Amino acid sequence: MQRVVVLGGGVGGTLTANLVARKLKRLIAAGDAKVTVVDETGQHAYQPGYMYIAMGNERPEKLHRPERSLLDDDVDLVVDTVVRIDPETSLVELRSGGKIHFDQLVIATGSRILPEAIKDFETEAYHFYTAEASARLRKALDAFTGGKLVIGIAGIPYKCPPAPLEVAFLIEAELRARGLREKTQLTFLSPINRAFTIESVSDMATPIFAEKGIDLQLLAGVDSIDAERKVVITDAMEEYPYDLLICVPPHKGAQVVIDSGLAPKSGWLPTDRKTLQVKHLVASNTPDADIPRYPNIYALGDATDLPLSKAGSTAHFEAPIVAERVSARVMGREPEGKDAGYTGKVMCFFEVGDGKGTLLQFDYDHPPKPPKPNQLWHLGKIIFNKTYWHTVPKGRV
Ligand SMILES: Cc1cc2nc3c(=O)[nH]c(=O)nc-3n(C[C@H](O)[C@H](O)[C@H](O)COP(=O)(O)OP(=O)(O)OC[C@H]3O[C@@H](n4cnc5c(N)ncnc54)[C@H](O)[C@@H]3O)c2cc1C
Repeated sequence: MQRVVVLGGGVGGTLTANLVARKLKRLIAAGDAKVTVVDETGQHAYQPGYMYIAMGNERPEKLHRPERSLLDDDVDLVVDTVVRIDPETSLVELRSGGKIHFDQLVIATGSRILPEAIKDFETEAYHFYTAEASARLRKALDAFTGGKLVIGIAGIPYKCPPAPLEVAFLIEAELRARGLREKTQLTFLSPINRAFTIESVSDMATPIFAEKGIDLQLLAGVDSIDAERKVVITDAMEEYPYDLLICVPPHKGAQVVIDSGLAPKSGWLPTDRKTLQVKHLVASNTPDADIPRYPNIYALGDATDLPLSKAGSTAHFEAPIVAERVSARVMGREPEGKDAGYTGKVMCFFEVGDGKGTLLQFDYDHPPKPPKPNQLWHLGKIIFNKTYWHTVPKGRV
C-alpha cells in the first residue's frame, strides 16, 4: 500500500489530493494506494472573497464550505492539527496523539497572519485577512465620516500582493460615491521602492494612485503603531497620523514546518522551483542547497519560499505538477507531459475600482504585461469568485 498524505485542505491541498486520486484510481480501487488529506478545521475557505466583505458585497457564510464536499470520494479526510512531521520515520504526528505514515507527503499548510506581532495592531488597525476582521473593517468604513485614512503593509511576503492596492482603489471609489472624498486624505504606504513588487505592474498602478489622488509613499513598510498619538511608524522611522488605519498584518508559514526543522523561522519551505520538492534548509550558496532533501516531500501554495505571489492562483497552477510527480513516484515511472515541471505560472485578476480591473499573467521567465484596466477583467474576477466552488478545487479548470 502506497500512502499519499496531503497536509492542508486549502486550494493547493484539495486540488492536489483530487488530482492524485484520479491518477491513482486503479491502485486505490485495488487497495494498493491511499490518498489522505489532513486539515485542522475541516472547512475550506475561499479567502479572496474576504476582501469583498469589507467592500460590502460579500457575506462570510458564502466563503466557507465543508472540505469533505470538495474532495473526491476516493480521498480520505482527517480533521486534526499536524504538530510534527518526521521525514526520517515518514510519520506525521497529530494533536489528538495519532500518527499517520506516508510514502509521499505534500505540504500545503498555507500561511499564517500574526497581527499580535505588532503592539496595538489588534486594537488600532483594521484588515481584511479573515472574514471576521473584514466584517469589522466594513463597520469602521460605515462609521467613517472623513479624515486621514492610511493603508499600509507590515512585512513582505503577504497573501495576494495586489490586495492592499485593490482595497485602496475600491475605498477611494466608495468615498467618492458617499461624498466623503473631499473630506479624506488617503495615503498608501508601500514597503518597497515602488508601488508593487513587479516592475510592469508598478508601472501600471502608479498612475492610478496619481489619478485618484492617493498619496503613494515608498519605502514605508509599517514597523509599529503609536496608539496614544494615533500615528503609524515606518521602517524608515517616518510617522503618518491616521483616523482610520488599514494594515496588512505580518505573515509567516505554518508553525509545524518550523517545529519540524523543515523551514527557517519565517516558515517558508525551501522549495525547488521546477519539481516543487522540499530542499535542504541551508544557505542558498552552499553545495546542498539545490538538492531535494527528501525526494518524497513536496510543497505548494503559500507554504513555499518561491519568489512568486502567495496566491490561490499559484497553488492552482502548481497542484497538477505536484500531482503528476507524486503519482509518477507511486507508479514507479518518470514524471511526464506538460505537468512534469512547474514554470512559475500565475494568473490573477486585479481590481482598480469604478467597475474596472486588469489581469496579471506571468511565469518565471515572462513578467506580466497587464492590459489597460477595463470592465471585462473586473467581471472576470466576479465570475471567477462565484464559480470557484465548482471549478478550481475540483480540478475543472
Ligand atoms: C483578502 C485576501 C484576498 C486574496 N485574493 C486573492 C486573489 O484575488 N487571487 C488569488 O489567487 N489569491 C488570493 N488570495 C490568496 C489565496 O487565498 C491564498 O494564496 C491561497 O488560499 C493559498 O492556498 P494554500 O492551499 O497554499 O493555503 P490555504 O488555502 O491557506 O490552506 C491552508 C490549509 O492548511 C490548513 N492547515 C494549516 N496548518 C495546519 C496544520 N498544522 N495541521 C492541519 N492543517 C493545517 C489550514 O486549515 C488550511 O485549510 C487572497 C487572500 C486573502 C486573505
